[in-house]
Amino acid sequence: MSRDEKVCRMGKEMLQVRSHSNMERHVPSLGHPEAPARLRAVLSALAGNGGDWELDRRAGPAPEDDTLGVAGWLHEAGLIERIREGVARAPSRVDGPDNPVSAGSWDAIITAAGLAVQAGLDLINGRLTRAFLAVRPPGHHALPDQAMGFCFLNNAALAAEIIARAWQAPVLIADFDVHHGNGTQAIFWERDDVGFLSVHRYPFYPGTGAGDEVGEGRGRGFTRNVPLAAGADDAIYASAFEAGLEELGTRLRPAAIVVSAGFDAHEADPLGGMKVTEAGFERMSRAVVQAAETWSGGRVLAFLEGGYNLDALGASARACCRALEIAPAAPE
Ligand SMILES: [Zn+2]
Repeated sequence: MSRDEKVCRMGKEMLQVRSHSNMERHVPSLGHPEAPARLRAVLSALAGNGGDWELDRRAGPAPEDDTLGVAGWLHEAGLIERIREGVARAPSRVDGPDNPVSAGSWDAIITAAGLAVQAGLDLINGRLTRAFLAVRPPGHHALPDQAMGFCFLNNAALAAEIIARAWQAPVLIADFDVHHGNGTQAIFWERDDVGFLSVHRYPFYPGTGAGDEVGEGRGRGFTRNVPLAAGADDAIYASAFEAGLEELGTRLRPAAIVVSAGFDAHEADPLGGMKVTEAGFERMSRAVVQAAETWSGGRVLAFLEGGYNLDALGASARACCRALEIAPAAPE
């Protein structure tokens, strides 16, 4: 059976991998770890390996105006202006030394956010059940009013917000990047309709993510942080993630699960200091699928966040996608 026949047979039920070459146009600076090669490493690891997913390069980002409209729900206008101005005088930086920009950075940032917006729209319109979004720059450190930690706009948060608003239903964001997703936490801190689970190294960059950070007001109990000491392996990291998913999923009963899939807890990562392997990422991704099948009609949107060893990044993204594959319906 050819690949086209397989796509046709499974239709929208196949895991979709979405990306776009615009995102290679963000070139932070020589030697910066968040480099265009990251995207190529992920896409080449996912291409031509017989995995049961569709690398769909035709599913483009939402139009820029629509993307900026959604970004304006979660981010202050001043941040978007500073990004625009920073890129206009590139090479430059936005909000600090971690976030250099090049002439192509605006296109990359808007494309990553636009793919998130489009995925959210496709999901609420029933055209998409499950996708892996190979995007950069990453998003989970992006605060309402500040770019930081290589992140400018919070891609995963944009997708979650679209689903929660459109359906008036809860959404769970599950983040297994080695760094605390402080931007996502800040955005949804007082919300009871978008829950946030983060398992991460602590104390570590960006400094937040202690276990007693649980949200405030209506949002109290809908943020769950699981801080781990350096050196955590598959068993420690994945068990913590699974327990958090079970706890927050039971409380929230999400209509969809959005994943901040960073792979910098990998044992070969130059920044993370953890000992997770591809098997650990596959296990955590399977836990997400199981949770989504229990509560969320199987709906999962996974967004690439960190991961800075190119070989480990590609292999880990592939392991994640293997777990996210949608099993074909059993023959009748
Ligand atoms: Zn990270």
